[in-house]
Amino acid sequence: MTLRVDSDPGLTDRIEGVLLGAACGDALGVPYEFGSAPLAPDEPPRMIGGGLGPYAPGEWSDDTQMAVVVARVAADQGLRHVPALDAVVQGWVDWLGSGATDVGTQTRQVLGTVAGTGPSRLWWSSSAAAAGLHRRTGQTAGNGSLMRTAPVALAFLDDPATLTLAARWVSDATHRDPLAGDACVLWCHAIRLAVLDGVLPDLAGLVDVLPLARQGRWTSWIVDAERRTPSVFAPNGYVVSALQAAWSAIRHPVGDGSPLVTSLNAAVHAGDDTDTVAAIAGALLGAVHGASSIPEEWLALVHGWPGLRADDLRDLARRVVDRGVELAVHRAPDELVEVAEHLIARGLGEGYDFVVRGRLVPSGLSSEYIGLEQLDDGTYRVWYLGDWGTQRSLVETGDWAVARARFVEESVRLAQGRRPRWKIPDEPGGKRRWWHQR
Ligand SMILES: [Mg+2]
Repeated sequence: MTLRVDSDPGLTDRIEGVLLGAACGDALGVPYEFGSAPLAPDEPPRMIGGGLGPYAPGEWSDDTQMAVVVARVAADQGLRHVPALDAVVQGWVDWLGSGATDVGTQTRQVLGTVAGTGPSRLWWSSSAAAAGLHRRTGQTAGNGSLMRTAPVALAFLDDPATLTLAARWVSDATHRDPLAGDACVLWCHAIRLAVLDGVLPDLAGLVDVLPLARQGRWTSWIVDAERRTPSVFAPNGYVVSALQAAWSAIRHPVGDGSPLVTSLNAAVHAGDDTDTVAAIAGALLGAVHGASSIPEEWLALVHGWPGLRADDLRDLARRVVDRGVELAVHRAPDELVEVAEHLIARGLGEGYDFVVRGRLVPSGLSSEYIGLEQLDDGTYRVWYLGDWGTQRSLVETGDWAVARARFVEESVRLAQGRRPRWKIPDEPGGKRRWWHQR
C-alpha cells in the first residue's frame, strides 16, 4: 500500500497522537512514580511535576526522552539499516551524557559499556552487551524498551513485515530478553493498526506476529489483563506486567472525561512505575483517539528534553511517518522477509543477527551459513558455506516453496548443532552474505 497522509486529516491527527499521547501519559505519571506523591483512589492525576527528577510541572521523563532519540533518527534516515540503529544507540549515549533526567538500571548498564565504541559498531556492541547481561543474570525483561517503542510503529506504517523485525532490533539494543522484544513487536503492531483504522485493535488477535512458542503465553497474559483491573499488575517493572497494566487501564477506564483521559487516569492509578505504564498506554490511546482528544491544558504544559513542546512532537511524528513512507520502496524483498519470519516462527530469530545488504536479518545460524540465492534465470539455489570456506550447492529449483523449505530445514539443522555465538559478517554484501539477489 502507499499511504496518503496529507489527504486524510483524521490520519494526521492519530499520527500526531502517538508521541503526544505517550508524552502526556509520561508527564502525568511522573509525579506519582513509585509513590513519590500521594494519590487518593478517586483523585485524578495532575501534571504537577516532582517525582524522581524532580521534574517541572508537565515535564516528561526518560521514557519520552529515549523515544525522541528514536524518532529523530527515524525522521532523519529511517530505521531500516544498521547505521540508523547505530545512530539510535549513539543518540542514547549522548543523552545519557547530557540530558538524561533519570535512567533505568539496565539501560544505564548496557549503554555504559559502549561509550567508547566506534560509531559503526554501536548497535552491535550494545545488543551484544545486553545479551551478555541476559546470559549472566537471566533477568533482563524490564519495561525499559517497551516504554520507548512507539516511534518504531510510526516508521513502518506501510511496512508491517519490517516493523516486526525493527521493533525487536531497537528493543534488543538494551533489552535482550525475548519477552521485552515480544512486547515491543506486539505494541508496535497495535499502534500501527490503531493509527490506520482509528479503532482499538484486538490485542490478543495480534499475537501471530510473535514466535509460535510464546503466542499462547501472550494470549493468556492479554486475556488476564482484560479481566482484571490495572492495580493487579503492580509492581510493573517487568515488561509483561507493564504491558498488562497499560492494556488493563485502556480496557478499564476510571473517572470522568474522554476515553483517553479516563484510561490514562486508570494507568496512573495502577501505581508503581506510573509514568512508564501511562506512557505505554498513552501511545496506543493517542493512536486510537488522536491528538485532538488530548486536553488543551495538558498540551500547554507538556514539555521536556531536548527542549521540545507539544507542537514539536506533532511535527516529529509526522516527519517519522513521511520518511518511513518514502523509504518503504526499499523494503526487503518479500521472499527475504518471508524467510526471516519463518525462521522467527520456528524460534530461530533470537540471539543471532546477520547483516544482509546493509539490513539486519535475524536467523538461526552461527559461523556457518546456509545461503539462498536467486540465479539469473530466476531459479533459486540453496547453498552451504562451512567454517573453512567450503561451499556446496544443496538444491537448485525454480520453485520458491521448495527452495524455502530446504533453506529452513538446513537452517534448523545447523542451528541445532550450534551454540549461540555472536558473529556478523564484517562487510554487508561481502562474500559471506546470507541472501544474494542479482
Ligand atoms: Mg520515566
